[in-house]
Amino acid sequence: MSDKLLNQLNEWPRERVLELVERATVADVDKALAKEERGLRDLAALFSPAADSRLEAMAQEAQRLTRWHFGRTIGLYVPLYLSNVCGADCTYCGYAVRSGNRQRRVTLKPDEIHRECAELAAQGFQSVLLLTGEAPRVVKVEYIAQAVAIAREYFPSVGIEVYSMDHESYKRLVEAGLEGVTIYMETYDRETYRQVHLLGAKKDYEYRLGASERAGKAGARRLSIGALLGLTDWRVDCFHVAMHAMHLQKECWQSAVAISFPRLRHVPKRFQIPALVSDREMVRLMLALRLLLPEAGFNLSTRETAAFRDRLIPLGVTTMSAGSSTRPGGYSSYGEETLEQFALEDHRTAAEVAEAIRSVGYDPVWKDFDRAFDTAVPG
Ligand code: SF4
Repeated sequence: MSDKLLNQLNEWPRERVLELVERATVADVDKALAKEERGLRDLAALFSPAADSRLEAMAQEAQRLTRWHFGRTIGLYVPLYLSNVCGADCTYCGYAVRSGNRQRRVTLKPDEIHRECAELAAQGFQSVLLLTGEAPRVVKVEYIAQAVAIAREYFPSVGIEVYSMDHESYKRLVEAGLEGVTIYMETYDRETYRQVHLLGAKKDYEYRLGASERAGKAGARRLSIGALLGLTDWRVDCFHVAMHAMHLQKECWQSAVAISFPRLRHVPKRFQIPALVSDREMVRLMLALRLLLPEAGFNLSTRETAAFRDRLIPLGVTTMSAGSSTRPGGYSSYGEETLEQFALEDHRTAAEVAEAIRSVGYDPVWKDFDRAFDTAVPG
């Protein structure tokens, strides 16, 4: 990874971000709202308690910007878990090797991947996200490349959410047909990061921080990043997510950069969520980030309830998962037999989610990524 991002993050430690947020006045918020292009200081004002009285104005501006850049469309995708084997120990995760969960762990075989893909393609999906835990000796790069190639037989758009890799490995996956790489930093706060990542390669903060950039430079055309909301003060982590997104937009300009908003809700028994994020805070942080980053895609998963997801549609979301399972083989091969990563809140089918999107005046789009790649040239 270039040291640029690391140096930028070091210039904005937690105390400095919070001081800026807490000092902001309503006048700072109004100034930020009136601008055409906003910067990090504006973001801090929009995160501040002073912005509470301006939520309606923020919502209107977020809606305007999102419609301008993305139209009235919501892209739909579905996660497909290839494996729940994991040698890492992230204390918040159901797959962690020491989570205490005893349910079955499996890695799908090629014929099972075909079966899952066929089932999802039959539901209408054209965009799939393949996921694994961190077990590079069991779930090798070559296995993931094979899974990408299989998925491409069914879906025009294939992304992965797996462990951090080097440039050559990402390149191999791009050659196999990969378009998107989702990798969350989980938290940008080094101390919190150290406390929740106890085993595995994921313990290496800097290697993980550089993963999206390596993927972009290897030719991945969609890069999704995010913080696991609830691990630490959302204002600090989301400030750093914004810095990371801006860095990627500059360094990997051929790739479309998106932000996801995974919020901790269901966690293993041994873990308590340190900094719960309320619905109101979640709305505020999404609106503020939209005002800073009008061109970034915003992804929303089925971790959130159906009612809350529906409310967020007009406020900046651009893609949603639907009809999801967080178990390998959960769609047709194993049902509920295998260990799930986390419990979901929105249990609607893909068709029901599409209908909900239509009912608020938006078009569900089963694949809307073309515009991001049409002019892209692999690096
Ligand atoms: S978050 Fe990923 S790496 Fe960590 S325990 Fe869960 S599956 Fe493994």
